[in-house]
Amino acid sequence: MAMRLGIYVQVPFCQTKCTYCNFHTGVFSNSLYSPYAAAVCCEITQHPKLLKDAGIEEVAAATVDTVYVGGGTPSLLEPSALARILDSIRSNFSCELAEVTLEADPETITAEKAAAWRAAGFNRVSMGVQSFGDKELIAAGRMHRRQDTYRATQLLRDAGLANLSFDLIAGLPHQTDASWENSLEQLLSLRPEHASIYLMEIDEGSRLGREVLSGGTRYSASALPDDDAMARFYEHACACLASAGYIHYEISNWGLPGFESRHNLKYWRREPYYGFGAGAHSFNGAQRWANAHDPAAYVAAIEQGRSCFEQLEQVSRQQALEEELFLGLRQLAGVDLARIESKYSASLRPRIEELRERGLVECEGTCVRLAPDRLAVSNEVFVHLLD
Ligand code: SF4
Repeated sequence: MAMRLGIYVQVPFCQTKCTYCNFHTGVFSNSLYSPYAAAVCCEITQHPKLLKDAGIEEVAAATVDTVYVGGGTPSLLEPSALARILDSIRSNFSCELAEVTLEADPETITAEKAAAWRAAGFNRVSMGVQSFGDKELIAAGRMHRRQDTYRATQLLRDAGLANLSFDLIAGLPHQTDASWENSLEQLLSLRPEHASIYLMEIDEGSRLGREVLSGGTRYSASALPDDDAMARFYEHACACLASAGYIHYEISNWGLPGFESRHNLKYWRREPYYGFGAGAHSFNGAQRWANAHDPAAYVAAIEQGRSCFEQLEQVSRQQALEEELFLGLRQLAGVDLARIESKYSASLRPRIEELRERGLVECEGTCVRLAPDRLAVSNEVFVHLLD
Protein backbone atom coordinates (compact mmCIF):
# COMPACT_ATOMS: atom_id res chain seq x y z
CA MET A 1 0.00 0.00 0.00
CA ALA A 2 1.26 3.46 -0.88
CA MET A 3 2.45 5.61 1.99
CA ARG A 4 -0.33 7.95 3.17
CA LEU A 5 0.47 11.62 3.60
CA GLY A 6 -1.48 14.38 5.37
CA ILE A 7 -1.29 18.02 4.36
CA TYR A 8 -1.86 20.85 6.81
CA VAL A 9 -2.28 24.43 5.59
CA GLN A 10 -1.92 27.19 8.14
CA VAL A 11 -3.92 30.43 7.75
CA PRO A 12 -2.71 32.69 10.59
CA PHE A 13 -5.33 35.44 10.30
CA CYS A 14 -7.98 36.29 12.91
CA GLN A 15 -10.58 39.05 13.10
CA THR A 16 -9.68 39.85 16.71
CA LYS A 17 -7.38 38.25 19.25
CA CYS A 18 -9.16 36.06 21.80
CA THR A 19 -8.10 36.91 25.35
CA TYR A 20 -6.65 33.45 26.11
CA CYS A 21 -4.81 33.00 22.80
CA ASN A 22 -1.07 33.07 22.38
CA PHE A 23 -0.84 31.25 19.05
CA HIS A 24 1.26 32.69 16.26
CA THR A 25 -1.82 34.23 14.72
CA GLY A 26 -3.01 37.80 14.59
CA VAL A 27 -5.11 40.52 13.13
CA PHE A 28 -3.59 41.52 9.78
CA SER A 29 -4.84 43.79 7.04
CA ASN A 30 -6.98 41.76 4.65
CA SER A 31 -4.81 43.11 1.84
CA LEU A 32 -2.36 40.36 2.90
CA TYR A 33 -4.93 37.54 2.40
CA SER A 34 -4.62 37.25 -1.35
CA PRO A 35 -0.77 37.38 -1.57
CA TYR A 36 -0.69 34.93 1.32
CA ALA A 37 -2.92 32.40 -0.45
CA ALA A 38 -0.80 32.83 -3.61
CA ALA A 39 2.38 32.20 -1.58
CA VAL A 40 0.88 29.01 -0.11
CA CYS A 41 0.06 27.77 -3.64
CA CYS A 42 3.60 28.65 -4.71
CA GLU A 43 5.11 26.80 -1.72
CA ILE A 44 3.04 23.74 -2.62
CA THR A 45 4.23 23.88 -6.24
CA GLN A 46 7.85 24.51 -5.25
CA HIS A 47 8.00 22.03 -2.35
CA PRO A 48 10.29 19.42 -4.00
CA LYS A 49 12.96 22.08 -4.64
CA LEU A 50 12.50 23.78 -1.26
CA LEU A 51 12.93 20.44 0.53
CA LYS A 52 15.91 19.38 -1.58
CA ASP A 53 17.71 22.70 -1.04
CA ALA A 54 17.25 22.35 2.73
CA GLY A 55 18.48 18.74 2.82
CA ILE A 56 15.05 17.37 3.70
CA GLU A 57 13.96 14.03 2.33
CA GLU A 58 10.65 13.93 0.50
CA VAL A 59 8.11 11.36 1.63
CA ALA A 60 8.49 8.91 -1.26
CA ALA A 61 5.60 7.58 -3.35
CA ALA A 62 3.01 9.05 -1.03
CA THR A 63 -0.68 9.53 -1.68
CA VAL A 64 -2.37 12.44 0.08
CA ASP A 65 -5.57 11.27 1.74
CA THR A 66 -6.21 14.08 4.28
CA VAL A 67 -6.00 17.85 4.09
CA TYR A 68 -6.60 20.14 7.05
CA VAL A 69 -6.79 23.91 6.59
CA GLY A 70 -6.48 25.41 10.06
CA GLY A 71 -5.53 28.64 11.78
CA GLY A 72 -6.21 31.24 12.84
CA THR A 73 -9.49 31.61 11.03
CA PRO A 74 -9.14 30.19 7.50
CA SER A 75 -12.83 30.86 6.81
CA LEU A 76 -11.83 34.55 6.51
CA LEU A 77 -10.12 33.82 3.16
CA GLU A 78 -12.14 34.14 -0.03
CA PRO A 79 -13.58 30.73 -0.93
CA SER A 80 -11.90 31.06 -4.34
CA ALA A 81 -8.49 31.36 -2.60
CA LEU A 82 -9.21 28.22 -0.55
CA ALA A 83 -10.27 26.44 -3.75
CA ARG A 84 -6.99 27.43 -5.41
CA ILE A 85 -5.04 26.00 -2.49
CA LEU A 86 -6.89 22.66 -2.80
CA ASP A 87 -6.34 22.72 -6.58
CA SER A 88 -2.60 23.23 -6.04
CA ILE A 89 -2.53 20.21 -3.75
CA ARG A 90 -4.41 18.11 -6.32
CA SER A 91 -2.05 19.16 -9.12
CA ASN A 92 1.19 18.63 -7.19
CA PHE A 93 0.52 15.42 -5.29
CA SER A 94 -1.01 12.06 -5.98
CA CYS A 95 -4.33 12.43 -4.13
CA GLU A 96 -7.12 10.18 -2.94
CA LEU A 97 -8.76 12.74 -0.67
CA ALA A 98 -10.89 11.09 1.98
CA GLU A 99 -11.06 13.90 4.56
CA VAL A 100 -10.67 17.59 3.69
CA THR A 101 -11.25 19.82 6.72
CA LEU A 102 -11.69 23.56 7.00
CA GLU A 103 -11.62 25.33 10.36
CA ALA A 104 -14.29 28.01 10.51
CA ASP A 105 -15.59 30.42 13.10
CA PRO A 106 -19.39 30.53 13.29
CA GLU A 107 -19.80 34.24 12.57
CA THR A 108 -17.82 34.00 9.31
CA ILE A 109 -20.10 31.37 7.76
CA THR A 110 -22.62 32.33 5.06
CA ALA A 111 -24.73 30.17 2.75
CA GLU A 112 -22.58 31.25 -0.22
CA LYS A 113 -19.32 30.38 1.53
CA ALA A 114 -20.61 27.00 2.73
CA ALA A 115 -21.73 26.07 -0.81
CA ALA A 116 -18.41 27.23 -2.27
CA TRP A 117 -16.41 25.24 0.29
CA ARG A 118 -18.37 22.11 -0.51
CA ALA A 119 -17.92 22.69 -4.26
CA ALA A 120 -14.16 23.21 -3.76
CA GLY A 121 -13.89 19.77 -2.12
CA PHE A 122 -14.09 20.39 1.62
CA ASN A 123 -16.12 17.61 3.22
CA ARG A 124 -15.55 18.43 6.89
CA VAL A 125 -15.84 21.70 8.84
CA SER A 126 -14.39 22.12 12.30
CA MET A 127 -16.12 24.99 14.07
CA GLY A 128 -14.61 26.99 16.92
CA VAL A 129 -17.77 26.99 19.05
CA GLN A 130 -15.93 27.14 22.42
CA SER A 131 -19.12 27.72 24.46
CA PHE A 132 -22.88 28.12 24.10
CA GLY A 133 -22.91 30.81 26.79
CA ASP A 134 -22.81 34.38 25.50
CA LYS A 135 -21.34 35.70 28.75
CA GLU A 136 -18.38 33.32 28.36
CA LEU A 137 -17.96 34.12 24.66
CA ILE A 138 -17.95 37.86 25.34
CA ALA A 139 -15.42 37.56 28.18
CA ALA A 140 -13.13 35.44 25.98
CA GLY A 141 -13.18 38.06 23.23
CA ARG A 142 -14.91 35.78 20.73
CA MET A 143 -16.79 37.43 17.88
CA HIS A 144 -19.70 34.97 17.69
CA ARG A 145 -22.64 34.31 19.97
CA ARG A 146 -24.62 31.15 20.69
CA GLN A 147 -27.15 32.02 17.99
CA ASP A 148 -24.40 32.19 15.33
CA THR A 149 -23.48 28.57 16.03
CA TYR A 150 -27.08 27.46 15.43
CA ARG A 151 -27.33 29.53 12.26
CA ALA A 152 -23.93 28.34 10.93
CA THR A 153 -24.68 24.68 11.65
CA GLN A 154 -27.87 24.90 9.60
CA LEU A 155 -26.07 26.61 6.72
CA LEU A 156 -23.36 23.94 6.67
CA ARG A 157 -25.91 21.12 6.78
CA ASP A 158 -27.92 22.79 3.99
CA ALA A 159 -24.75 22.94 1.88
CA GLY A 160 -24.35 19.16 2.27
CA LEU A 161 -21.55 19.11 4.83
CA ALA A 162 -22.15 15.82 6.59
CA ASN A 163 -19.09 15.82 8.83
CA LEU A 164 -18.94 18.63 11.39
CA SER A 165 -16.71 18.97 14.41
CA PHE A 166 -17.29 21.41 17.28
CA ASP A 167 -14.60 22.64 19.67
CA LEU A 168 -15.53 23.50 23.25
CA ILE A 169 -13.22 24.93 25.90
CA ALA A 170 -13.55 23.78 29.50
CA GLY A 171 -12.31 26.47 31.86
CA LEU A 172 -13.43 29.78 30.32
CA PRO A 173 -14.02 32.74 32.65
CA HIS A 174 -17.57 32.71 34.10
CA GLN A 175 -18.04 29.01 33.30
CA THR A 176 -19.96 27.13 35.99
CA ASP A 177 -21.13 23.54 36.36
CA ALA A 178 -24.57 24.63 35.15
CA SER A 179 -23.30 26.62 32.14
CA TRP A 180 -20.95 23.80 31.15
CA GLU A 181 -23.76 21.28 31.31
CA ASN A 182 -25.84 23.64 29.20
CA SER A 183 -23.06 23.91 26.57
CA LEU A 184 -22.77 20.12 26.39
CA GLU A 185 -26.54 19.72 26.06
CA GLN A 186 -26.67 22.22 23.22
CA LEU A 187 -23.73 20.59 21.47
CA LEU A 188 -25.50 17.23 21.68
CA SER A 189 -28.74 18.73 20.40
CA LEU A 190 -26.91 19.82 17.22
CA ARG A 191 -25.19 16.42 17.04
CA PRO A 192 -21.93 17.19 15.25
CA GLU A 193 -20.16 14.04 14.07
CA HIS A 194 -17.09 14.97 16.10
CA ALA A 195 -16.27 17.04 19.18
CA SER A 196 -13.02 18.31 20.67
CA ILE A 197 -12.96 19.44 24.29
CA TYR A 198 -9.91 21.42 25.30
CA LEU A 199 -8.99 22.18 28.87
CA MET A 200 -8.14 25.85 29.18
CA GLU A 201 -4.40 26.36 29.54
CA ILE A 202 -3.48 29.77 30.80
CA ASP A 203 -0.64 31.01 28.68
CA GLU A 204 1.44 33.74 30.32
CA GLY A 205 1.82 35.46 26.97
CA SER A 206 -1.93 35.92 26.46
CA ARG A 207 -3.82 38.93 27.77
CA LEU A 208 -5.79 36.69 30.13
CA GLY A 209 -2.56 35.06 31.34
CA ARG A 210 -0.97 38.44 32.09
CA GLU A 211 -4.06 39.44 34.07
CA VAL A 212 -3.82 36.20 36.09
CA LEU A 213 -0.22 37.10 36.94
CA SER A 214 -0.52 40.83 37.49
CA GLY A 215 -4.14 41.36 38.47
CA GLY A 216 -6.83 43.42 36.81
CA THR A 217 -10.46 43.07 35.84
CA ARG A 218 -10.56 43.57 32.11
CA TYR A 219 -10.39 39.92 31.02
CA SER A 220 -12.32 38.34 33.92
CA ALA A 221 -9.29 36.43 35.24
CA SER A 222 -10.91 36.37 38.68
CA ALA A 223 -13.89 34.48 37.17
CA LEU A 224 -11.75 31.57 35.92
CA PRO A 225 -12.94 28.19 37.23
CA ASP A 226 -10.40 26.40 39.44
CA ASP A 227 -8.63 23.12 38.59
CA ASP A 228 -11.18 21.01 40.47
CA ALA A 229 -14.01 22.56 38.48
CA MET A 230 -12.15 21.93 35.22
CA ALA A 231 -11.61 18.28 36.13
CA ARG A 232 -15.36 18.02 36.88
CA PHE A 233 -16.19 19.64 33.53
CA TYR A 234 -13.96 17.16 31.71
CA GLU A 235 -15.39 14.16 33.50
CA HIS A 236 -18.92 15.37 32.88
CA ALA A 237 -18.11 15.74 29.17
CA CYS A 238 -16.73 12.18 29.07
CA ALA A 239 -19.93 10.82 30.60
CA CYS A 240 -22.34 12.90 28.45
CA LEU A 241 -20.59 12.20 25.16
CA ALA A 242 -20.29 8.47 25.91
CA SER A 243 -23.98 8.19 26.70
CA ALA A 244 -24.79 10.00 23.44
CA GLY A 245 -22.82 7.40 21.42
CA TYR A 246 -19.55 9.27 20.87
CA ILE A 247 -16.32 7.29 21.02
CA HIS A 248 -13.60 8.87 23.12
CA TYR A 249 -10.53 8.06 21.02
CA GLU A 250 -8.01 10.69 22.11
CA ILE A 251 -7.65 12.70 25.33
CA SER A 252 -9.44 15.74 23.82
CA ASN A 253 -11.39 14.13 20.98
CA TRP A 254 -14.63 12.23 20.49
CA GLY A 255 -16.30 11.00 17.31
CA LEU A 256 -19.45 9.19 16.32
CA PRO A 257 -18.43 5.74 15.00
CA GLY A 258 -16.39 6.17 11.81
CA PHE A 259 -15.89 9.93 12.34
CA GLU A 260 -12.59 9.99 14.20
CA SER A 261 -10.38 12.67 12.58
CA ARG A 262 -8.25 10.78 10.08
CA HIS A 263 -5.93 13.75 9.70
CA ASN A 264 -5.30 14.34 13.39
CA LEU A 265 -4.77 10.61 13.98
CA LYS A 266 -1.67 10.96 11.79
CA TYR A 267 -0.07 13.27 14.39
CA TRP A 268 -0.66 10.82 17.22
CA ARG A 269 0.47 7.86 15.12
CA ARG A 270 3.64 9.64 13.95
CA GLU A 271 2.61 9.34 10.32
CA PRO A 272 4.07 11.84 7.83
CA TYR A 273 2.50 15.19 7.07
CA TYR A 274 3.57 18.33 5.23
CA GLY A 275 2.61 21.73 6.55
CA PHE A 276 2.34 24.72 4.22
CA GLY A 277 1.95 28.37 5.21
CA ALA A 278 3.44 30.60 7.92
CA GLY A 279 4.37 28.69 11.07
CA ALA A 280 3.27 25.32 9.66
CA HIS A 281 5.11 22.23 10.93
CA SER A 282 6.04 19.12 8.93
CA PHE A 283 7.28 15.62 9.66
CA ASN A 284 8.61 13.05 7.21
CA GLY A 285 9.22 10.20 9.66
CA ALA A 286 12.82 11.23 10.43
CA GLN A 287 12.94 15.03 10.33
CA ARG A 288 10.69 17.78 11.68
CA TRP A 289 10.74 21.28 10.26
CA ALA A 290 8.78 24.50 10.61
CA ASN A 291 8.10 27.50 8.40
CA ALA A 292 8.74 31.13 9.34
CA HIS A 293 5.98 32.33 11.68
CA ASP A 294 5.58 35.88 10.51
CA PRO A 295 3.12 35.89 7.55
CA ALA A 296 4.79 38.88 5.83
CA ALA A 297 8.26 37.29 6.17
CA TYR A 298 6.86 33.99 4.89
CA VAL A 299 5.25 35.64 1.84
CA ALA A 300 8.46 37.61 1.10
CA ALA A 301 10.62 34.45 1.28
CA ILE A 302 8.33 32.55 -1.09
CA GLU A 303 8.00 35.48 -3.51
CA GLN A 304 11.79 35.83 -3.66
CA GLY A 305 12.32 32.09 -4.10
CA ARG A 306 14.14 31.80 -0.73
CA SER A 307 13.71 29.07 1.86
CA CYS A 308 10.71 29.64 4.15
CA PHE A 309 11.98 27.16 6.76
CA GLU A 310 13.14 28.46 10.12
CA GLN A 311 13.72 25.24 12.03
CA LEU A 312 14.85 21.79 11.01
CA GLU A 313 15.70 18.93 13.32
CA GLN A 314 16.66 15.34 12.86
CA VAL A 315 14.56 13.27 15.27
CA SER A 316 16.92 11.13 17.35
CA ARG A 317 16.10 7.54 18.23
CA GLN A 318 15.47 8.53 21.87
CA GLN A 319 13.15 11.37 20.82
CA ALA A 320 11.29 9.04 18.47
CA LEU A 321 10.78 6.55 21.30
CA GLU A 322 9.51 9.28 23.65
CA GLU A 323 7.17 10.60 20.96
CA GLU A 324 5.75 7.12 20.37
CA LEU A 325 4.94 6.87 24.07
CA PHE A 326 3.54 10.38 24.58
CA LEU A 327 1.57 10.52 21.36
CA GLY A 328 0.49 6.89 21.64
CA LEU A 329 -0.77 7.32 25.19
CA ARG A 330 -2.89 10.30 24.13
CA GLN A 331 -5.01 7.75 22.27
CA LEU A 332 -7.42 5.85 24.46
CA ALA A 333 -6.61 2.61 22.64
CA GLY A 334 -3.13 2.96 24.20
CA VAL A 335 0.20 1.71 22.88
CA ASP A 336 1.57 -1.75 22.21
CA LEU A 337 4.58 -1.92 24.48
CA ALA A 338 5.97 -5.05 22.84
CA ARG A 339 6.01 -3.32 19.43
CA ILE A 340 7.79 -0.23 20.80
CA GLU A 341 10.30 -2.26 22.83
CA SER A 342 11.23 -4.34 19.83
CA LYS A 343 11.34 -1.37 17.43
CA TYR A 344 13.72 0.58 19.70
CA SER A 345 15.45 -2.34 21.44
CA ALA A 346 14.39 -0.71 24.70
CA SER A 347 13.22 -2.16 27.97
CA LEU A 348 10.28 -0.10 29.23
CA ARG A 349 8.47 -2.59 31.39
CA PRO A 350 10.01 -1.70 34.79
CA ARG A 351 9.10 1.99 34.30
CA ILE A 352 5.58 1.16 33.12
CA GLU A 353 5.09 -1.26 36.03
CA GLU A 354 6.01 1.54 38.45
CA LEU A 355 3.46 3.84 36.79
CA ARG A 356 0.85 1.09 36.96
CA GLU A 357 1.47 0.62 40.69
CA ARG A 358 0.94 4.37 41.16
CA GLY A 359 -2.39 4.12 39.31
CA LEU A 360 -1.28 6.31 36.40
CA VAL A 361 -1.61 3.72 33.63
CA GLU A 362 -3.36 0.41 33.19
CA CYS A 363 -2.06 -2.62 31.31
CA GLU A 364 -3.78 -5.38 29.41
CA GLY A 365 -1.42 -7.91 27.87
CA THR A 366 1.21 -5.82 26.09
CA CYS A 367 -1.15 -2.84 25.72
CA VAL A 368 -0.66 0.19 28.00
CA ARG A 369 -3.23 2.96 28.44
CA LEU A 370 -3.62 6.02 30.61
CA ALA A 371 -5.78 5.18 33.62
CA PRO A 372 -9.28 6.58 32.88
CA ASP A 373 -9.23 8.82 35.97
CA ARG A 374 -5.89 10.36 34.85
CA LEU A 375 -7.02 11.55 31.43
CA ALA A 376 -7.79 15.04 32.75
CA VAL A 377 -4.27 15.32 34.19
CA SER A 378 -2.38 13.48 31.46
CA ASN A 379 0.52 15.96 31.53
CA GLU A 380 1.35 14.84 35.07
CA VAL A 381 1.51 11.25 33.88
CA PHE A 382 3.78 12.24 30.99
CA VAL A 383 6.17 13.98 33.38
CA HIS A 384 6.42 10.81 35.49
CA LEU A 385 6.93 8.69 32.41
CA LEU A 386 10.37 10.12 31.83
CA ASP A 387 11.52 11.30 35.24
S1 SF4 B 1 -9.66 32.54 16.70
FE1 SF4 B 1 -8.25 30.95 17.46
S2 SF4 B 1 -6.23 31.52 16.66
FE2 SF4 B 1 -7.56 33.33 16.44
S3 SF4 B 1 -7.21 34.56 18.30
FE3 SF4 B 1 -8.97 33.23 18.72
S4 SF4 B 1 -8.10 31.38 19.67
FE4 SF4 B 1 -6.40 32.49 18.68
